[in-house]
Amino acid sequence: MKKFALHWQILVALVLAVLYGIYLGEHVNLVAWMGDVFLRALKMIIIPLVLSSIISGVANIGSAENLGRLGIKTILYYISTSTLAILTGLVLVNIFKPGAGADLNLIESVDLGLASDSLGATLIKIIPENIFSAFSENTQMLSVILFSILFGFFITRVPERAGGLLTDFFNAVFEVMMKLTLFIIKFTPFGIFGLVAIKIAEQDNLMALLHGMGLYIMVVLLGLAIHAGVILPLILKFIGRIHPIRHLKAMQTPLITAFSTSSSNATLPLTMEAIEMNAGVSGKISSFTLPLGATINMDGTALYECVAVMFIAQAYGVELSFIQQMIVVITALLASIGAAGIPMAGLVMITIVLTAVGLPLEGVGLILAVDRLLDMFRTSVNVWSDSCGAVVIAKSEGEILKV
Ligand code: ASP
Repeated sequence: MKKFALHWQILVALVLAVLYGIYLGEHVNLVAWMGDVFLRALKMIIIPLVLSSIISGVANIGSAENLGRLGIKTILYYISTSTLAILTGLVLVNIFKPGAGADLNLIESVDLGLASDSLGATLIKIIPENIFSAFSENTQMLSVILFSILFGFFITRVPERAGGLLTDFFNAVFEVMMKLTLFIIKFTPFGIFGLVAIKIAEQDNLMALLHGMGLYIMVVLLGLAIHAGVILPLILKFIGRIHPIRHLKAMQTPLITAFSTSSSNATLPLTMEAIEMNAGVSGKISSFTLPLGATINMDGTALYECVAVMFIAQAYGVELSFIQQMIVVITALLASIGAAGIPMAGLVMITIVLTAVGLPLEGVGLILAVDRLLDMFRTSVNVWSDSCGAVVIAKSEGEILKV
């Protein structure tokens, strides 16, 4: 008999979790631990996975010229799709004006606990003072990536014997990490069951929220749907010559996981597995593009930053000029690049965009209540966009894929 495929198991888990959350909400503690265990297991492997995948990826790419070409191509691709996402959001928010007439009494007090740095300071901080403390913080992924790229690159610059030894070593570590990832993935249905059940059980005021913030939620979701369902598939089809539906099927497990965990980082192991096993991208390309994508390429977050800030401006009755709206576009892009791939990181980054156009930071209080809900959707779009980037770039490097 054919084995019950993982994505069906996950789907069943999702349905059961919703039912459990609704009918047995008060006993949610009995199952919530499963989500906790799953998330912790994913987080456990992120740093060694990113480190070994980038080092082995870069060491195998070989020449500085190849690395430079792949790096520039990847970064340009990511920035372009994020910008497209922001512009989609900008158009929609100007058409629907969800903030006009929004109730300012809804403002909740917020303590984001994090003063955002200036752009210059943020860039400087990418260079870690101590690489081991960067390993222990899951918000410092850019530092880990920078260190890994440098380390991988200089492996190719040492004499043959040492270089070969290190390349073999990191290839081997990466292989083990992927095996470990596969093992953890087997438990995804249980993890998702726990994560979703608790979310459903805690949403008693969902209806009230939907009512008060309906138009805002709708504009964000519509923007995400257009970007993920129209723009990215068009890029897949016409630039990558890839079948969007087949690619979507290949990515089911990471997408549902992104939705349930609201974390691109936590989903990364599953994204890498799906891109290599189901889509057929080589380890060389996927191990470079995906960890980078999970950190800097957040189309969903970029769109969200723009819509949220425009919403806040509208709620305060501030008319933003064309130039100011362009500043929103640019800072939303930077904020999405800087946002960590963890839950609600995008909310914190909104302060950068608000500051850039002189809006009050308390405005964040307006959107706080629905942020967690929207985070699930934007994170799925973030992961979807990373995966589209990986296959398009693999195709452009002449790889033959399964999708
Ligand atoms: N949760 C998102 C992610 O991990 C980031 C965000 O908050 O927008 O991709």
